[in-house]
Amino acid sequence: MNVTVWNENRHEKQNDKVAGIYPDGIHGAIAAFLREAGLDTKTATLDEPEHGLTDEVLADTDVLVWWGHKAHNEVKDEIAEKVKQRVLDGMGLVVLHSAHFSKVFKKLMGTTCDLKWREADDRERLWVVDPSHSITEGLGEYIELEKEEMYGEHFDIPTPDQLLFVSWFEGGEVFRSGATFKRGKGKIFYFRPGHETYPTYHNKEIQQVITNGVNWAANKNTPSPTYGNRKQLEKISDK
Ligand code: ZN
Repeated sequence: MNVTVWNENRHEKQNDKVAGIYPDGIHGAIAAFLREAGLDTKTATLDEPEHGLTDEVLADTDVLVWWGHKAHNEVKDEIAEKVKQRVLDGMGLVVLHSAHFSKVFKKLMGTTCDLKWREADDRERLWVVDPSHSITEGLGEYIELEKEEMYGEHFDIPTPDQLLFVSWFEGGEVFRSGATFKRGKGKIFYFRPGHETYPTYHNKEIQQVITNGVNWAANKNTPSPTYGNRKQLEKISDK
């Protein structure tokens, strides 16, 4: 399986605090634990030609992980459209944190994907609400993060196919923090935590969820359906 971790990689260049937490970039941190889990992982960033997502890279990618925040609008429409088409064609997509507002996720959801937010060092507790799902394997009843950005309901997404986590925040809000969707042949996993000023992607349980999510989103030799007019497989009897 080939994984590509995409990151806009701007906070890391502009904010010393973020660079201190993620010296190799958020993409570097995520790629490192995915490689440790045995997954063949490359990275791509916004400032590379074609944002690092050439036709060849997309064709070779089984699962794409996406982190973006302040530069969603700098992602070229044609690249976002190509990513969407690859998802419809069967590429898995893991959408992290503020990528809820990425062009790719909004195109695939068809809603505003808007939400409430606050940066106030809330404690976050992510409760597992689907303990039978492969994405929650290896976890306890909940994951606790000492400090995170708050995201609150209402989260304007379509009703998820599967809801895996619900977050509680110290300030009083709740949020659907882990949800799956299918679009075309592609499987999509949205996972909330990962604000850039907190070391969330160094947390082992968060790493476990993202690794599980990548494994879940990969399509394994699924059939390629055909569409349109078709000849019968066998003779249709006269009636
Ligand atoms: Zn954030």
